[in-house]
Amino acid sequence: GDTPSRIAEVPVDKLLNGLLAAGFDEGSCLSRYQSASYRKDSPQKPSSYLISRLRSYEALHKRCGPYTESYNKTVKQFKSGHQTGTLDCNYVVWISFSGLGNRILTLGSAFLYALLTNRVLLVDPGVDMTDLFCEPFPEVSWFLPTDFPLKDQFASFGQKTPHCYGKMLKDNKFANSDKSRFPSYLYLHLVHDYDFHDKLFFCDQDQTLLQKIPWLIMKTDNYFVPSLFLIPSFEQELNNLFPNKDLVFHFLGRYLLHPTNKVWGLITRYYKAYLANADERIGIQIRVFDDGTGPFQHVLDQILACTIKEKLLPEIDRQESIINISKIPKSKVVLMTSLSSGYFEKIRDMYWEHPTVTGDVIGIFQPSHEEYQQTEKQMHNEKALAEMYLLSLTDVLVTSSWSTFGYVAQSLGGLKPWILYKPENRTAPDPPCRRAMSMEPCFHAPPFYDCKAKQGIDTGKLVPHVRHCEDMSWGLKLV
Ligand code: GDP
Repeated sequence: GDTPSRIAEVPVDKLLNGLLAAGFDEGSCLSRYQSASYRKDSPQKPSSYLISRLRSYEALHKRCGPYTESYNKTVKQFKSGHQTGTLDCNYVVWISFSGLGNRILTLGSAFLYALLTNRVLLVDPGVDMTDLFCEPFPEVSWFLPTDFPLKDQFASFGQKTPHCYGKMLKDNKFANSDKSRFPSYLYLHLVHDYDFHDKLFFCDQDQTLLQKIPWLIMKTDNYFVPSLFLIPSFEQELNNLFPNKDLVFHFLGRYLLHPTNKVWGLITRYYKAYLANADERIGIQIRVFDDGTGPFQHVLDQILACTIKEKLLPEIDRQESIINISKIPKSKVVLMTSLSSGYFEKIRDMYWEHPTVTGDVIGIFQPSHEEYQQTEKQMHNEKALAEMYLLSLTDVLVTSSWSTFGYVAQSLGGLKPWILYKPENRTAPDPPCRRAMSMEPCFHAPPFYDCKAKQGIDTGKLVPHVRHCEDMSWGLKLV
């Protein structure tokens, strides 16, 4: 083949066009500066404005992060219950919640919200965050200290929590509130089951109120970035940060998410052993939300119908006729990910038992089959992260509808995937898949409310860059 390996040996731009800060210790987080040798360049460069805002965020984080003088001061005040004076540091705390794909997308959302509101992002380490991700900011940690006053309550935070913003609105707590008596913290419930009042978070006037609260503690399982683009006071800033709206999570993800050395080992060993030497790498991410255990024939039919119809994989020759193949055959590898091994085994056997009509040689690999989603097991999520990352290193990607696991891979990779439609009634949909409009993830539970007119509205029809998703008709995505 003409491209035997994509692990670059020539010096690459390890700072990703200025997206990453220089000066980190390389050994403590190998992925940070090595990732450039495995990845394709971004489809476009990050804007110089985004780069300068990231550097100024890093300075803010260094001044306000855990155990800095400012942090200690504000935590002390925080314990006293009410806000007394203006503080020079304000925070957004991200609570570790939901599956790994969801968490990665909400981290990006919370960080963008922090950038837009000049807040410092602090990350609840949960059970596994420190095993999965390196520190993204120089010198001062992004992890919320374990002695943070409210930490034990995070798990129980919900819509009935007295400090829940939606609940306080419902109970009319801000009606004629003396500004000096604003609470020092609020809980923002942005989970998919959130209600009308929780969703007012996405209104300008509510953002004005939230500006006065030093600590915002956020629980979410959704990529809510598309709706930030519909808040008028954020519009100009977002335009400057992201002239190309298709690349929001692409840049935020590449900036924030650096797998730890342990996960990087899983990624690089697998890549070198199975993917590096092929002419083309194809990722197929299978996520079946149906009840029951696969493999299902209709899902298998759909995968093959999509990949063959879109010419991602060649047809097999069942007659085994000796055909004259004019072009030089290619070696293609398929990286499959799925909780079960059935689809992978069937497709692998098919390409072993029969030749392809093009003469191309197809290798099929799947790193793991964990059978079911497990939340508290350490290696499980390390493998899940490694697999999302490996999918992002492919040249062509096929993903499953509704899956945040696939969204992470496509955005990080800068890939517009072919999305397999969600099967209905256990039949393969026709057409089986379609090409995504953009690389961006889908916001599964957006608000449909016009804050000014105080009435319902289709938020997927307001601006050309926020549309309904390909895989979920009520979802919103940036294009
Ligand atoms: P989503 O449910 O598809 O949106 O993705 P999430 O990542 O939020 O949750 C699914 C969880 O199931 C992941 O975090 C993994 O723990 C597990 N999982 C799902 N698909 C796979 C897979 O293909 N490989 C591995 N290793 N784990 C998976």
